[in-house]
Formats: sequence, C-alpha cells, structure tokens
Amino acid sequence: MEYTDAPSTQAPANTMPCPLCGHSLPKDAVECDHCDWTRAERETAEGKASDAFAVLLSIIPGLGHIYKGHKLIGMLLMFVATPMAVGLALLAATATAGFAVLLLPLYWLGVMFHVYGIEDRVGPPNKDEGEEY
Ligand SMILES: [Zn+2]
Repeated sequence: MEYTDAPSTQAPANTMPCPLCGHSLPKDAVECDHCDWTRAERETAEGKASDAFAVLLSIIPGLGHIYKGHKLIGMLLMFVATPMAVGLALLAATATAGFAVLLLPLYWLGVMFHVYGIEDRVGPPNKDEGEEY
C-alpha cells in the first residue's frame, strides 16, 4: 500500500459529473461546456416549470417545449413540424375549398396538450426512469 495524493479514478470531491453527458464539472458549475445542460434552479426557485405558461408559449409551437427544457423537440416543432403542418394544411385547403385549414387549430391544440403533459426538465432530474418518447 503506497501513500499518494494523486486523485483516484473516482472524481475528486470538488467536481461532479454532468447529469447529461457525464463530463466532469466543478461542483458549483451552472452549465456544462460539453452539452447544453444548465443548472436552472436559480430562475425556478420552486423547481417546476409552469405548465400553464408552457401552454401559453405554445402559441408558437415549440416555444413551450423549449421552456420546459425539451430543446430538441421544441426546435423540431418550431422549425420542422409547424412549417410542414402549415404547408400541408394550405396544400390540402386548395383541394377542399379551404376546409383543411380547420385542421391547423387541431395541430396547435395537440402541441399544447403535449407540452402540458411532458415532464419538465427545468427542475432537478427526477428519479423515475420515465423518459419522453
Ligand atoms: Zn454535459
């Protein structure tokens, strides 16, 4: 047994692994420089994103998802799914004398219901393994 001050393979006490990518960070780090994890507990003292506010933000589909911490889904909704939905509805509207445009509010409602239901990632990560789909 030799005595050494060299850090073991375990992370030193003043660091912590990033919850998302596992990159070693200072213990008081507020964000990871390897991924988009951020410690969000300062802005949200109660540790929960507001479902109602997320739904309100979904006037612009995707914004509510980003607000809840689902950045990728939010970006996809905002820049891919919504332009596609609008485009398809307009395309279909030409064939249905405009009635297909009525489908768009359903799309918006769907986005709002989804953002209301998803787990927010703003607070500390919860223990259960339930992940978004
Ligand atoms: Zn990270």
